[in-house]
Amino acid sequence: MSFERIREKLNILADAAKYDVSCSSSGSVRKNTQKGIGNSSGMGICHSYTEDGRCVSLLKILLTNHCIFDCAYCVTRKSNDIKRAAFKVQEVVDLTINFYRRNYIEGLFLSSGIFKNADYTMERLIAVAKKLREEENFNGYIHLKSIPGASDELMREAGLYADRLSVNIEIPTVSGLKLLAPDKKHEDFLKPMEKVKNEIIQYKAEKKIIKSTPRYAPAGQSTQMIIGATGESDKDIMYSAIHYYSTYHMKRVYYSGYIPVADDARLPALGTEVPMMRENRLYQTDWLLRFYGFDVREILNQEHPNLDTDIDPKLSWALRNMHLFPVDVNKAPKWMLARIPGVGMHSVRKILEARKFRNLSWEHLERLGLAMNRAKYFMICNSRDFERRDLTPSQIKGAILRQSSSKYRQLHSGQLNLFSQSA
Ligand code: SF4
Repeated sequence: MSFERIREKLNILADAAKYDVSCSSSGSVRKNTQKGIGNSSGMGICHSYTEDGRCVSLLKILLTNHCIFDCAYCVTRKSNDIKRAAFKVQEVVDLTINFYRRNYIEGLFLSSGIFKNADYTMERLIAVAKKLREEENFNGYIHLKSIPGASDELMREAGLYADRLSVNIEIPTVSGLKLLAPDKKHEDFLKPMEKVKNEIIQYKAEKKIIKSTPRYAPAGQSTQMIIGATGESDKDIMYSAIHYYSTYHMKRVYYSGYIPVADDARLPALGTEVPMMRENRLYQTDWLLRFYGFDVREILNQEHPNLDTDIDPKLSWALRNMHLFPVDVNKAPKWMLARIPGVGMHSVRKILEARKFRNLSWEHLERLGLAMNRAKYFMICNSRDFERRDLTPSQIKGAILRQSSSKYRQLHSGQLNLFSQSA
């Protein structure tokens, strides 16, 4: 196989993989063994690669963009007239090792269209991971995308070689999935998720008793939802996410704004802006639920089925619950400090530490680095309560918006190609 053909395949299959955002690699530690190659450290590995080959983290590709399915939202769907390609197992292994040795990547994120059937495709994904681990002694990070409908045996095997497995639910609601991906069945996603969850629990339990038990998907499982392709509300999306977190012990749920790829009456028109701000608000909500002790129903409910796009969800919640404010930062419990807009968990810890020694004033709080432009309307301290007096929620919102400029760009910033014409 010529280098030119491999390069062409990379162009096609790395480009097709850019629509999948669920390749975070945090949470896994895999040490180098004596004769092995690579290691994966716990946190902060970035997920994209640059054109000039520096600081590349994960090689993110599809094994193939051939697919027997026709999901309307997917660029790889069988009815789409695009260039197709498929890697051989050994080609992906060689690319991974070669890029690793050149320090381009720290691991592999491997997904695939479905050729033939789910099991046939899954077997090939596993074969790549198995060869990397067993023949190349590769200890870098491997994230395998599981193929919906793959059998239990294969899901079990996949977790013995991969650090993380993901089964992408794609569309947040069952009705949306039926509309846009008529070939797929909701149960096809749930079965592998359940299998992976149970295997993780079982392997962890066994490892406590028998030290030599191999690790099974040590970075857990994740899933991804495309948002904005169907008419679901933010409430629908977040309630689904909570279900996957609690029922299947997901490490992460990813929210991926729909990128219009098809001229299809069931979907937003071509050229429709990618809902980047909405995506960002969903991630902020997800964060509040996982780390700030919020219940999803406090943020999204019958009355408020969608998140504000102009302000963040914590501020939005606080403005709807003004009766709980102002919070006295010198007395409030930790969970309530965490609910003050502009006060992150890092600041909460600093406040708790600092107030052991003194009664905190505005000056102290400013020095602790709180986002005072928002926080000052929701707290009192050892100073005069001068900011909040007589202001209504809409006046506070207006004042905050006037002071802040959005840091989020509206446009979708595409993923860079591994090889561009100019590279
Ligand atoms: S099965 Fe996956 S790759 Fe195939 S069309 Fe559907 S989303 Fe795309």
